[in-house]
Amino acid sequence: MKNSLIFSRPIYVTRPLLPDLEGVFGKITETWNNKILSNCGPMHTSLEQELTKLLRVKHLSLFNNGTIALIAALKALDLKGEVITTPFTFSATVHSIIWANLKPVFCDIDENSLCIDPNQIESLITDKTSAILGVHVFGRPCDVQAIDVIAKKYNLKVIYDAAHAFMAEIDGYGIGSFGDITMYSFHATKLFHTLEGGALSCNNEILHKQLELYRNFGILNEEQVVLPGINGKMNEIQSLVGLENLKYLEIERNKRLAIYDLYVQLLQGISGISTISIPKNVKNSLQYFPILVDKDSFGCSRNELYLKLKEYNVFARKYFYPLCCDYACYQDINSSHITVARKIGDSVLCLPFYGDLLYNEVQQICNIISYIKQES
Ligand SMILES: *Cc1c(COP(=O)(O)O)cnc(C)c1O
Repeated sequence: MKNSLIFSRPIYVTRPLLPDLEGVFGKITETWNNKILSNCGPMHTSLEQELTKLLRVKHLSLFNNGTIALIAALKALDLKGEVITTPFTFSATVHSIIWANLKPVFCDIDENSLCIDPNQIESLITDKTSAILGVHVFGRPCDVQAIDVIAKKYNLKVIYDAAHAFMAEIDGYGIGSFGDITMYSFHATKLFHTLEGGALSCNNEILHKQLELYRNFGILNEEQVVLPGINGKMNEIQSLVGLENLKYLEIERNKRLAIYDLYVQLLQGISGISTISIPKNVKNSLQYFPILVDKDSFGCSRNELYLKLKEYNVFARKYFYPLCCDYACYQDINSSHITVARKIGDSVLCLPFYGDLLYNEVQQICNIISYIKQES
């Protein structure tokens, strides 16, 4: 039985979206001819315009990656002291706070959304707190309304890491229209990518101008440099790959939507495995397919399932384990109150999820999980 379920080639958690080379070569030829390689050239301008519309945001600025974008966002808001954030995220979220010379304060997460728990934020606010940095984990949005109420009450800025939430919407509003600034990542592993890349969105015209200054060394014009900016510019090759990838976005999303539904349908019969539900008023970003493993009813732990899946050539990923608060470099930050995130961190597993995954492969992955359960 087991041998017949083993994949003959490795099945990874994701595969990059790759546009047709002909289209890419066409745009590279254009770029070679006009000799504009960076500094907000025509590919850059056109991608920025397309994404502003697609993401339903007021202002959008492209960056060379999401991490530099996030650091620029924190700098542009002129924050001081402490930033309350979640430990259940990719390292870049918390590292960015350090790079912006601020102190991260860890807040526990909500068991359903897996995002920062607004009910626990207030008790962490001190006179040093200047902002809340939430992450729309797996594209399921933070409780933006509750966070907004707290931010107004204590006069805090709100930044969102929407690296997983490309095209996510709440009640038809682009996810990037909430908070002061939202960061997107267009890294190769994300559904929409520019090889490496990122963006910031905001609603405020003056802030938008500041972000663009931070992106380009603080250069206002040929003779005036007004702030200590960084080089955050997306180049023309990155931009044109993005423009080509946009052509495949709807196809990729539709394929993922079908795979998503199939997973949900096949996994609901396996006790001990639960999926993350997306609220009805939210548009799914389809970035990941996470499951939660309940050791008692499933029969083995997430770690055991993760290791056993490898025997079948299935390479799932433990996003996000370990928690950021458990990194060696963040041991001096208090995390004794982090309990829900620890529980989730020990039970979450992201299954292979990308448009080219075949239905029978999804079926096989679910059969393997079922078989592992029987054997446990
Ligand atoms: C991918 C990712 C980032 C970092 O983005 P880069 O573009 O790789 O710098 C930040 N936060 C989260 C949650 C991510 O998944």
